Amino acid sequence: MRHDDELFRQTFSSSPIGMALVDERGLIDEANASFAAILGYVPEEMAGVSMGALTHPDDADRDADLREGLAAGELPYFQLQARLVHRSGDIVWTRSTVTRIGDATAPLRCLVQVEDVSEVRKAKDLLERRAQFDHLTGMPNRSLLLERTQHALTRHAHADSTVACLFLDLDHFKLVNDSLGHHAGDRMLVALARRMRDAVRPVDTVSRLGGDEFVIVLENIAGQSAAEGLLAVVMAAIQAPLTIDGHQMVPTVSAGLAMAEPDMTAETLVRNADLAMSSAKRAGRNRVALFHSGMRDSAIVRLSIETELRTAIHEGELVVHYQPVVDMRTRQTVAFEALVRWQHPHRGLLLPQDFIEICEDANLVVPLGAYVIHEACRFIAAHPEFDGKVLVNVSTRQIGGADLTRVVRTALEDTGVDPSRLGLEITESGMLLATQAANSDLAALASMGVDLILDDFGTGYSALSSILQNPVAGLKLAREFTLRLGDRATGDRISTAIASLSDGLGMYGIIEGVETEAQFRRAREHGWALGQGFLFGHPVPAQDVSFDGPGIAHLGSLLHRDPAAAS
Ligand code: C2E
Ligand code: MG
Ligand code: MG
Repeated sequence: MRHDDELFRQTFSSSPIGMALVDERGLIDEANASFAAILGYVPEEMAGVSMGALTHPDDADRDADLREGLAAGELPYFQLQARLVHRSGDIVWTRSTVTRIGDATAPLRCLVQVEDVSEVRKAKDLLERRAQFDHLTGMPNRSLLLERTQHALTRHAHADSTVACLFLDLDHFKLVNDSLGHHAGDRMLVALARRMRDAVRPVDTVSRLGGDEFVIVLENIAGQSAAEGLLAVVMAAIQAPLTIDGHQMVPTVSAGLAMAEPDMTAETLVRNADLAMSSAKRAGRNRVALFHSGMRDSAIVRLSIETELRTAIHEGELVVHYQPVVDMRTRQTVAFEALVRWQHPHRGLLLPQDFIEICEDANLVVPLGAYVIHEACRFIAAHPEFDGKVLVNVSTRQIGGADLTRVVRTALEDTGVDPSRLGLEITESGMLLATQAANSDLAALASMGVDLILDDFGTGYSALSSILQNPVAGLKLAREFTLRLGDRATGDRISTAIASLSDGLGMYGIIEGVETEAQFRRAREHGWALGQGFLFGHPVPAQDVSFDGPGIAHLGSLLHRDPAAAS
C-alpha cells in the first residue's frame, strides 16, 4: 500500500499531463505542476479552488451532470472536451478525463486529468474558417453565404421586411488579368470587395463566390425599391476610378437583383439573382437586371438547346441558307452569304440569334463553323453554273486557337473548290484579336486567296488602323446604318463616307439590309458597289436557289481582286 502510494505520488507530480485531486464539493485538494501551468498558476495556488470556477460557464452544466453520474456510481469515469479559464481570462481548450477514486461507498473523490488541446483546436478553427471564407478577400464564401442566407430567410419568413440578393459580376475582368497580370487582378478584386463592404449596411453579407463574382445578401430590407437603392449605391462605389500598378481604370459590373419569396431556399434566391445578372450581361453589361420568372424558363431553354445542339451537328439538323449579294449597277447576283439555321425537330426552324451565342458559350461554335464552311464549299462545287463567291460568317472563337486555316484548307481540298471562291465574314472584334495565333491564321487565309470581309462595320469602337493591320478585302456596313438612310443629318453622311472609305482603301463595300427601292437608290448614289437585303432576295435553302435567267452574273470583275493589293 505504501509502495503504491509512493508510486502514485511520483507519477502525479512529474506527469506532463495536468492532474488534480478534487473532493466531493468540487474543490481542488491538490494539483500537479502541469495542471497549474495549463491555467497559468503555480501548484500551491490551486488548493481549495473550485473546479466550477475554472470551467467556462457554457460547459459548467454538462460538467455537473457528468459529475452526478460519477457520484451515483453510474459511471466509473467520463471524458469531455471542456473549456477552462486561464488566469489571464483566456479560454483554454482541454480534453479532460475525470475518474472516481475509491469505491462507490466512500465519499466522492476524483482524479481530473487535463490535456491542453488549444493548438489542435486552433488548427481546426483555421480549417473551418478556410472552408467558409474566401482567402483573397477574407469574405464569406459560397457555403457560408448560403448558410447565412438560409438563416435570413427563416428569420424574415413572418416579418414585414424581406431579404434581397444582388449578384455582381465584373465586366471584362479577364482583360485586366490578361493584360496586367494576376497580381493586379487580385488587387483589383480586393479593392472592389472593400468598396462593396463599405457601401452596404453592417447587417448585409458581402461574399465572393470565386473569380470576379460577388453576392450581396441584404437583410431586413423594406422591399424591392429599397434594394434597388442600395444596389445603386454599390454600383456607384464600384465605378469610382481605380489605380492599379499605375494604370487608371473605371471598373463596371453587371448586376442581377432577386427578391425573396415565401418558402424560397437560399440556393434558389442566389440562382435567381445569377440568372438576372446573366441577362444584364447579355443586354450589354454595365447594367442591372431584375429577376422575373421568365428568366428561369429561358435558362431552361438555353440548357436544353445546349444539350440538343451537340447532337444536332451530327444528326444533320443544321442547314445553310443562301442570300444573294448583288452588283448595285446591274442587280445581278455576284455572291451569296451562307447563313446557318437549325431545323429543330420540335421547335421548327431556329435562326442564329436563338443558338449562336449558346454555341459560343458551350464551345460548339468550332464544329458548327467547320460544318458551315464545308457546306458552303459543297454548294459551290455542286453549282458549276455559278462562278461567284460564297461568304461564310465566322466567330471570333474559330480564329487562332481552333486553326481556321486548316479547316478551310480541308474543306476546299475535299470539294476541289478554288480559295478565291470563298470569303469569310469576321466582326471587328474578331479582326482585333491580338494573339499571335489569330494573326497568323488570318494572314495564312488571305495569302491562300480567301477574302476576309469586315462584317457589321461601324458597330464596334475599334481604331481603323488596328483593324486594317489585317489583309481585309471587303467591308459590310452594319444594317443599323441602312435603316438610317434618308436621314440627311447623319445616316446619309455616314453611308457616303464609309462607301468612299472602302473604295479608297481598295476594298469592296457591301451594304446590307436593303429592303426598299428608296434605300437601294440612295445606297447606289452613295457609291456602294454591292448590296444585300430582302429587296434582292431572302436567305433560302440551297435547293431553292435559282441560277437560271439573267439574275446571275458571271463573276463580275468587282469580286476579282489581287490579294497582294490588300497587304
Ligand atoms: P450577319 O452576318 O450580319 O447576317 C445578316 C443577317 O441579316 C441575316 O440574319 C440575314 O437573314 C439578315 N438580313 C438580310 N437581309 C435583310 C433585310 O433586308 N432586312 C432584315 N431585317 N434582315 C436582313 P440571320 O440569318 O438571322 O443571321 C444573323 C447573324 O447570325 C448573322 O449576322 C451572323 O452574324 C450570324 N450567323 C449566321 N450564320 C452564321 C454561321 O454560320 N456562323 C456564325 N458564327 N455566325 C453566323
Ligand atoms: Mg454576315
Ligand atoms: Mg452583318
